[in-house]
Amino acid sequence: MSERYVVNGQTIELVLGDITDQDVDAIVNAANSHLAGGAGVDGAIHRRGGPSIMAETRRKYPDGCPTGSAVISTAGELSARFVIHAVGPIWNDGNSGEPALLASAHQCCLELAVKSGCRSIAFPAISTGVYRYPVDKAAAIAIGTSAQFLREHSTPNIIRFVLFSPNAYETFATALRSITTP
Ligand code: ADP
Repeated sequence: MSERYVVNGQTIELVLGDITDQDVDAIVNAANSHLAGGAGVDGAIHRRGGPSIMAETRRKYPDGCPTGSAVISTAGELSARFVIHAVGPIWNDGNSGEPALLASAHQCCLELAVKSGCRSIAFPAISTGVYRYPVDKAAAIAIGTSAQFLREHSTPNIIRFVLFSPNAYETFATALRSITTP
């Protein structure tokens, strides 16, 4: 399954798969603010990337990373060049600043990717697992922030969303279609 949308000559694409399999310059981790490692995406990245990633984030970011922001490290044994550790919000009721925090987590990742010369970046569905953000609401923010970023910047060339279930894929596809159909 895959689907794409071209904005300003650059592509937003959706794939069903595992974030750690992606052959891109940067993969995004759904991290926690202590950068402590966890389940889900975080566990998969550290398992496949090896211990050097955590060693580097401990050294460079001893205070962790605030919610709504992101930090960058090398990618250990993964084929990507970088891992960008993004901290999305925990879903509460939707009126506790979650949308702005989720948007800024995506925005920070894209800015770090550009600064580091990345031409391609792969995101998981940040906050939609353990952090319980409703997937439809998260998809609208993730896709909307990405499309706006590409309208304003000439890189990255590819922003890929890697969805772990057919359900999440379909929900992101609906969000993508809603910005592509006038
Ligand atoms: P968060 O704590 O930000 O909610 P999670 O890692 O718990 O992060 O989940 C984020 C999303 O990533 C969920 O939709 C989950 O199903 C999905 N996911 C889990 N493992 C992977 C993986 N290896 N590749 C891509 N997506 C994954």
